[in-house]
Amino acid sequence: MKKDLAVATSGKRVAIIGGGVAGSTVALYLAKQGLNVALFEKNSSLVSGPPICHLHAGGNLYRELSQQQCLDLLVQSIDFVKFFPATVNKRPTVIAIPNNDNGTPESLLPRLELLQKSYQSLVEADSANEVLGDPADYFHEYYYEQLKTLALLEVPRKPSSIDEWLIPFAKHTDLSKLKYPVYVVQEYGLSLFRVAASVELAALKLANLDIKTGHCIKHVSRVGEGYTLQFENGHEDNFDFVINACGFRTGVIDDQLHLARERLVEFKAAYVTQWQSYKNEKWPEVIFHGKRGTPQGMAQLTPYPGGYFQLHGMTMNITLFDEGLVQSTSKSAQPQLPSNLIAKVDKGWSLEVQTQRACNAIQHLSQFIPCFETAEPAGTPLYGAQQIPGNDPSLRAADVSFEGEHYARLEIVKASSALLAGKKIAKQWFDLKDSTLNQTESTKEEVRAIESLAKQIAVSRGYPEELAIAY
Ligand SMILES: Cc1cc2nc3c(=O)[nH]c(=O)nc-3n(C[C@H](O)[C@H](O)[C@H](O)COP(=O)(O)OP(=O)(O)OC[C@H]3O[C@@H](n4cnc5c(N)ncnc54)[C@H](O)[C@@H]3O)c2cc1C
Repeated sequence: MKKDLAVATSGKRVAIIGGGVAGSTVALYLAKQGLNVALFEKNSSLVSGPPICHLHAGGNLYRELSQQQCLDLLVQSIDFVKFFPATVNKRPTVIAIPNNDNGTPESLLPRLELLQKSYQSLVEADSANEVLGDPADYFHEYYYEQLKTLALLEVPRKPSSIDEWLIPFAKHTDLSKLKYPVYVVQEYGLSLFRVAASVELAALKLANLDIKTGHCIKHVSRVGEGYTLQFENGHEDNFDFVINACGFRTGVIDDQLHLARERLVEFKAAYVTQWQSYKNEKWPEVIFHGKRGTPQGMAQLTPYPGGYFQLHGMTMNITLFDEGLVQSTSKSAQPQLPSNLIAKVDKGWSLEVQTQRACNAIQHLSQFIPCFETAEPAGTPLYGAQQIPGNDPSLRAADVSFEGEHYARLEIVKASSALLAGKKIAKQWFDLKDSTLNQTESTKEEVRAIESLAKQIAVSRGYPEELAIAY
């Protein structure tokens, strides 16, 4: 029998433990559906877990990803953007394959064509899905001569075409080091600071969403059909439903409830740098593919205003760490990272190591963009540990798992999967129909308020406010 909203909301209490992007998104979605939601986050603000800089609308950063996961990420990303319209940085991503890599550009083409077709169908089905630009422009290819011609043009302050977005890349990249064609994809950036601000501001208008930051849940136990949550101060509260959204610590509560679950946990870091010499140039995001874990691992340049760039390098001396990927055991659903990595998550890390790794990242990128060697480390890295359900470290599209009638775990690998997890919970527990509850578009005032709060959140965490500003 279909339950209506009144039944769904008739006093049932939902607790979400963990206010990362998953817990926060699901809390907002369920509260907008009329449910009574309490969100508990141990840190002082929401979405303070590992970083998020890329929307992954098509999974093109991962060559090894199955076509199905890429299609799933495309759909999920479109839904996510419709739910959080003020969180996207709209600029394309350049996907380049260096000469010294074994891969070929042609091998990327079938997947890009499939994604373009799928995006086209989604837009035909509902024009509100057109959040990644015109489907005809989902991807384009560029050859050496075209880029050489673009390199002669002046860099525009406000790029208005794909050609214009490519000018700085064409000017400063050592084009002789790449295979052709190079692809340009409408894969946008995503601001974790503006997601945090969007949830906090939306919650102010929802009396049925109670956000409790600074609240650590010490223990969860089963009581009848529901659960008792015990807080750090010894206080207890009872809930009908519990959503475990503890990110890489999800296994701690699984263990308390004696629930077996296979998962991986991985610690990674990205580095904030500033490139003063070209600070007024607007760049696309740039990916130089490479074999993960080798000295030639993928290099990723993510642009922000003011000449700030976030860098990833999938090598052991930049983004990846010794013993940084661990797995659960038959005795515990909580994989154990080595104590030096846990200390980084909980207490931060030395300036010396941060600076060394940021310099390694600058060097890694300047193999391809030689003048990028004048960039400098610009503060606290963006880092953290994340879970990957199951035992496949390359899994990227995952959402939620259920245990019994009243317990669920959010197990996203990419931020854009969080909304789907919320929808599945609404359906499974309350038989509520799929509803994105889109804001369609934020008003100018809302966008301004979100950006203003996002800047405050960035600065309070030791990052330049530019990381929170729409690009
Ligand atoms: C270097 C790096 C780069 C990344 N880049 C991207 C990207 O570009 N795009 C993307 O989509 N994804 C990216 N990811 C992955 C993304 O960061 C994670 O998938 C995402 O943060 C997971 O969100 P979550 O809410 O599940 O977990 P978290 O963000 O870890 O949130 C869990 C929350 O639970 C809280 N918590 C834990 N235990 C308790 C407790 N007992 N009581 C109360 N609160 C508790 C924690 O404090 C935390 O805030 C990246 C990850 C890394 C490491």
